[in-house]
Amino acid sequence: MPAILDLGDMQGDLVAWRRDIHAHPETAFEETRTSDFVAQRLESFGLEVDRGLGGTGVVGTLKAGTSNAAIALRADMDALFIHEANEFSYRSTNDGKMHACGHDGHTTMLLGAARYLSQKPEFDGAVHFVFQPAEETGDEECGGNRMVREGLFDKFPVSAVFGMHNFPGLPLGHFAVRSGPMLASIDTFEFKVLSEHNHPATQYTSPDPIVIAGRIVEAFHGFKARGVNPAEPVVLSITQFQAGDPINDRQGVHITPDHAYVRGTVYTLNDAVRDLFDERLGAMAHGIAAANNATCEFQYQRGYPVLVNTSDEKQRAVAAAGAVVGGAAVDGDMQPIMGAEDFAFMLKGRPGCYILIGNGAGEGTCHVHNPNYDFNDEAIPFGVSYWVNLVQMSLPEQPGGGRQSSSS
Ligand SMILES: [Zn+2]
Ligand SMILES: [Zn+2]
Repeated sequence: MPAILDLGDMQGDLVAWRRDIHAHPETAFEETRTSDFVAQRLESFGLEVDRGLGGTGVVGTLKAGTSNAAIALRADMDALFIHEANEFSYRSTNDGKMHACGHDGHTTMLLGAARYLSQKPEFDGAVHFVFQPAEETGDEECGGNRMVREGLFDKFPVSAVFGMHNFPGLPLGHFAVRSGPMLASIDTFEFKVLSEHNHPATQYTSPDPIVIAGRIVEAFHGFKARGVNPAEPVVLSITQFQAGDPINDRQGVHITPDHAYVRGTVYTLNDAVRDLFDERLGAMAHGIAAANNATCEFQYQRGYPVLVNTSDEKQRAVAAAGAVVGGAAVDGDMQPIMGAEDFAFMLKGRPGCYILIGNGAGEGTCHVHNPNYDFNDEAIPFGVSYWVNLVQMSLPEQPGGGRQSSSS
């Protein structure tokens, strides 16, 4: 019989912690209060605490028995530059910053698992509870990559690493996951077509940067449609197109601009497809600019890689979630999502699995990164129970330990 753990008095504490973190959001690499909050609690549970990986990162280690088996569980601590629209008592006290992605909930659920397991360490080995900064940066300088680069898995050798994210629209008490690519890579590009200012009536005497940049944009979309295997999902978006002088409004209409500036993003589910875009977009931009007598500056910036779950760890995640909510509430073959996540860097270093936990569906729910979003506190017991089951399924039982199944 699947069952949620009885958290007893802990449940009230966890809701209070979640709301405390929510009220004090901190953005990338500035999570000092949150990092202190996490470290103090881990110490109070009796864990060994390591600080400083990735700047504000915290790793709490819980050991039991004598085995060298070890896994890592990861939560993210950072908030977003969004001004909170909610009016409840625990709304953000840092104007312009907000926990609009539920990392307050992720941090709380992992703290809950650390506290529960510290009281019932029914496993033989080590669990490393990893609290990372800066999941939201979108570039290679994100917190997950920094912790890995600074030696996370050398300092804390593990056989697997696991992550979890809430998902609005997925009902409360449900989980969703898949093997293989589950979330996309994200890369960004920018280019500038350079010419000179001109009079609109004599524009034919110098390259028109707006028209040329428009051709390049069209070529990029054409390449996505005709240059890539259609079985490979790709999202290419132009997110910025700037030219002309918006300040000098009266004059602006009589002067053509000396440059046009364009930015965009590329999401894929295959690192080889990223390589293709990295290689071809610049060549197209330079070629089209040259064919029109203009010059072009182009840059392609790699962000997060494709997030790939390994099949054994995914199966274990499905079993752990099923032990909490029953198999029918676990979608083990969800469609990939074209959003990105820096946990992908940890999965490049170790086998592992990233799972989605339902934040609730129906009226009143809104998606993450929305100023009205809030993490659903009712998801906390599901998340804590999942982590505890996953630990017990991943690590051996202590000799003669007589582990009581947490799902009995
Ligand atoms: Zn987010
Ligand atoms: Zn997030």
